[in-house]
Amino acid sequence: MGEDKTAMQVYADIVLPVPFDSFTYSVPASLQERVMRGCRVVVPFGKTKIYTGVVLRTHGQQPQGVEVKSIMEVLDEQPVVNEQQFKFWQWIADYYLCPLGDVYKSALPGAMKPHDEQALKEARRRKPNPLSQEGQTATDFPLCTLNEAQQQAYTEIETAFENKDITLLHGVTSSGKTEIYIHLIYKYMAEGLQVLYLLPEIALTTQITERLHRVFGDKMGVYHSKFTDVQRLNVYKRQISDSPYQLVLGVRSSLFLPFQNLGLVIVDEEHDTSYKQQEPAPRYHARNAALMLAKMFGAKALLGTATPAFETYHLARKGRYGYVQLTQRYLGVQLPEVRVVDLKEMRRKKQMQGAFSLPLIEEIRGALERKEQVILFQNRRGFAHFLECRQCGWVPRCPHCDVSLTYHKKTQMLSCHYCGYVTRVPEKCPNCEEPKLTDVGLGTEKVEDQIAQLFPDATTLRMDLDTAKTRSQCERIIQSFAAHEADILIGTQMVTKGLDFDHVSVVGVLDANVMLNQPDFRSYERTFHVLSQVAGRAGRRNSMGRVILQTRSADSDIITQIAANDYWAMFYQQMQERHDFSYPPFTRLIYVYLRHRDMDLLEHLAQDMAERLRRVFGVRVLGPDCPPVSRIQSLHIRKIVLKLEPTMGVGKVRQALVAIQHEVVAQPVAKNLNVYYDVDPM
Ligand code: ADP
Ligand code: ZN
Ligand code: ZN
Repeated sequence: MGEDKTAMQVYADIVLPVPFDSFTYSVPASLQERVMRGCRVVVPFGKTKIYTGVVLRTHGQQPQGVEVKSIMEVLDEQPVVNEQQFKFWQWIADYYLCPLGDVYKSALPGAMKPHDEQALKEARRRKPNPLSQEGQTATDFPLCTLNEAQQQAYTEIETAFENKDITLLHGVTSSGKTEIYIHLIYKYMAEGLQVLYLLPEIALTTQITERLHRVFGDKMGVYHSKFTDVQRLNVYKRQISDSPYQLVLGVRSSLFLPFQNLGLVIVDEEHDTSYKQQEPAPRYHARNAALMLAKMFGAKALLGTATPAFETYHLARKGRYGYVQLTQRYLGVQLPEVRVVDLKEMRRKKQMQGAFSLPLIEEIRGALERKEQVILFQNRRGFAHFLECRQCGWVPRCPHCDVSLTYHKKTQMLSCHYCGYVTRVPEKCPNCEEPKLTDVGLGTEKVEDQIAQLFPDATTLRMDLDTAKTRSQCERIIQSFAAHEADILIGTQMVTKGLDFDHVSVVGVLDANVMLNQPDFRSYERTFHVLSQVAGRAGRRNSMGRVILQTRSADSDIITQIAANDYWAMFYQQMQERHDFSYPPFTRLIYVYLRHRDMDLLEHLAQDMAERLRRVFGVRVLGPDCPPVSRIQSLHIRKIVLKLEPTMGVGKVRQALVAIQHEVVAQPVAKNLNVYYDVDPM
């Protein structure tokens, strides 16, 4: 059918940046030749909006019962989304239970999706038409020679790839994993294949970029969410040109770039939780999605880390993945010595000055005297966790969210870390007029303050979401510290990521309990990951480093395991618990979230949905419950948990969930109910 195109009306299903799969538009006769699957089109939406969408398919079926609008304009001569990308988008939508429109929104750089006249003008000017590249021969390729242990690991990876598509490289920090990646990348590129090198979101520093750039020159493209729209557009353009980058170094969103002949995917720091996109949808896990992407291309995947995620290690042990180990640091640099300091005992003996125990103060003093550097880690930004009136107990809270506000001393502001609400610190307690509010809890800003009092001559840098909002701020801090322009770097989890400093001899963890006490079944695993990574920053090249680990749980197994860097003991013990309480990797979790302004109505609808779910999934359904933060931006939240056997078919589960959601939202009272899913939540 459809031979005589001009005689019949043609329609196109368009994916738009709104939470639906697609919308049908009619194609004006003048555009029929140009409206092709994978091309971008501009369409009217609602009463006044215009959107840029991507053509999913064209057909002759007139939609019934709705007014059909027409496509206004076609932006591309050639498709800019290829078949492989469509397949990948669909997988993300199916597996992570979200509409295609949400995937599209994440997948293309903003500059490719103009939604007003001005942006449209810009887009017309910069069409992503194929561009030809010249002189892109990489530099001379100055590869390091692998040492014996590295060479052996390299050979083992090659052997593993002969019959496994996925291999885990489990190597201590500084063992030369990156060096091995470089050799592998070289090999795949020499075969004319493309390589994707994934890094966690906040890790992409100049250090690794420069290191790879020295080897691969302009055959390498870098793709980062903190890049400008135009920079990201340029990488995208290049990937659909006839001379795409052979190597892409990028964060999770680089999975959505067009690839032509992907041969190898490397996921560095594969355990890192920032691979999971939390908000907005699609809430995908970039490591798992990368494995799917590799599979679609018949490519190999290498997962690298010093502390594998349980899911990964579990599958490697079961033989599903190849497994290669590196136990020696390069040049035999020793792992740091970890000293556990019992905060309870220190308090009792009055050996604390603010947040600092005497042993930590001594270590810092020693390092400063030897002209060495120090990193201090506290995984909470701001000055204090919150303010409190000691007279009446009043605590300033966010008017829109169910959380207390974080105190920032320098700016004398209180801020909500969930919705961004900020307000000035009140001059007195609004409840009882008490003039002084006490600060409770320890944030990086307070650490900095106390260091200034303890070591007035020491220079400090602070790295957290307040001081390092942009990529250039981030890089400036890192470069400055690397150049030894400051003695002490104070930071949140940001300081743990893939940084390699030569002069750091002491790392202080101010309070390990901040992470340990998170109400989450993964909190011990996560603390182990983060603290071994922080510890790895100490004494990388010149001398053995020292880590001072302050905690209120000095006798606990988990702290002992962290101090001894005993991954196996930690894994073994935690896996017992996961097994006994049916947590991943023994089950697959899906969280169902419901949001509504009206709490009573929400409660009713959540009960209703849980009941319907129980009719299908029985005891696998838990809840509904209030999540720890049960109101964000004035929307109340309820959560239903599904604990499924890993063998249960993804497609069947999806079908059942979609059907139940339709039943629930079809009720007139559920008009403004918002339902979404978090599959494999982190
Ligand atoms: P990892 O990725 O396991 O943390 P790296 O690859 O970053 O380890 O190696 C740690 C340090 O040792 C880096 O500075 C790197 O340049 C150096 N290095 C590792 N292997 C070699 C090698 N074979 N030749 C020269 N330098 C090496
Ligand atoms: Zn808020
Ligand atoms: Zn008060």
